[in-house]
Amino acid sequence: MKFTKKFLLLLFLFCSVFSLALACTDELTVHFIDVGQGDSVLIQTPSQNILIDGGERSAGPTVVKYLQDQGVNKLDLVISTHPHSDHIGGLINVLKAFPVKEVIDPAIIHTTKTFEDYLTLIDQKNIIFTPGRAGMHRELDDGISMFIHHPTKPSNAHLNDASIVARIEFNQVSFLFTGDAEAISEMEMLSNDAVLQSTILKVGHHGSTSSTSRIFLDTVDPAVAIIMVGTENKYNHPHTEIISRLQKNKVDIYQTDLHGTIVVSTDGKTYNIKTEHHLETEGQFVGSIKSDKYHYPNCENAKTIQPHNLIWFSSVAEAKKAGYKPCGGCKPPSK
Ligand SMILES: [Zn+2]
Ligand SMILES: [Zn+2]
Repeated sequence: MKFTKKFLLLLFLFCSVFSLALACTDELTVHFIDVGQGDSVLIQTPSQNILIDGGERSAGPTVVKYLQDQGVNKLDLVISTHPHSDHIGGLINVLKAFPVKEVIDPAIIHTTKTFEDYLTLIDQKNIIFTPGRAGMHRELDDGISMFIHHPTKPSNAHLNDASIVARIEFNQVSFLFTGDAEAISEMEMLSNDAVLQSTILKVGHHGSTSSTSRIFLDTVDPAVAIIMVGTENKYNHPHTEIISRLQKNKVDIYQTDLHGTIVVSTDGKTYNIKTEHHLETEGQFVGSIKSDKYHYPNCENAKTIQPHNLIWFSSVAEAKKAGYKPCGGCKPPSK
């Protein structure tokens, strides 16, 4: 009898510790979906699916398919950062394809057919509609919180600066989603003393110089920057000035035009980044425009070269002609 009680107690203790350990491995996964020029981010907590933006209208089917492939059958929350078509366009297909519990947007009017179709769907499907304002806070799941830092007083005179900026925090790992918020919004958040420091920054306005001001970047102090941008877009995004600013701050840069869809998963302590495309080998040897060494593509030193700095050589002669010397680590041939 005594033994049984002790045994049960031990079993109980074991189970509690075990289930605690299980709870600790619960993950937050954030998918930066490659929708070309535009934003679309799927956030999956252990119990919720949240979508921030849906790319252009033409990207709608891509987003719907991506969500279905992740096993999404309902969305607990859709955040539309602001009414520009490269953010809300694709949401029309999304709102048609999935049951959506709630939409948060800046609640300002924009006179386009896309915006009208979007509003009509929210109305027809009886979706809870909440104007997003700085100071809002939601508990998404155990230990996972979302804070809205912007806007305070949105105006339809400048839609980018009406963008909803959300920060998601899971213990030591955090994400800042800035939509197309520009420097004026960044200054506003800084003066409101919003907690901005984040591990991963979704770079504002597709890497345009309109956003990611120096002081804002220094305050967010991210380890990783994600730029959502289309190949050869007409705006020339991302601007080289922003790329060099991020590099100067030693931020790892990922871009949807180069890496395709980027998936960040975290247990709240560490994070792991998976990309759809790996940098293709485009020559026999590789170098960085920032150094004078050439490497084998699989050299550990070569793997740290940022995509924008890569330079490929088809032969040793070509590398030497460009003034490059063999790396001492991977030791490629010198002639
Ligand atoms: Zn945009
Ligand atoms: Zn915009």
